[in-house]
Amino acid sequence: MSTPPLSSPSCCPLCGGPNQCAIAAGRPPESCWCMAQRIAPAALAAVPEAQRGQVCICPSCGAISADAQQPFADPPGPAPI
Ligand SMILES: [Zn+2]
Repeated sequence: MSTPPLSSPSCCPLCGGPNQCAIAAGRPPESCWCMAQRIAPAALAAVPEAQRGQVCICPSCGAISADAQQPFADPPGPAPI
């Protein structure tokens, strides 16, 4: 078998933490956090292909990171004016 150790349906495949998935917990899918929150495409892309569509990621890994969305472009130096 080539099943990776982190294959529990309730564990995030990215960080191994609890993914808080309602489906894995036996609750209705509508009550899952992923229904109310957008999942970062980069996070989905980071999920191993074998686990994609099988295992939920956790809210913190799925969150669209502030770094990716709005990079800190302000230079640390003095203002130009
Ligand atoms: Zn995670």
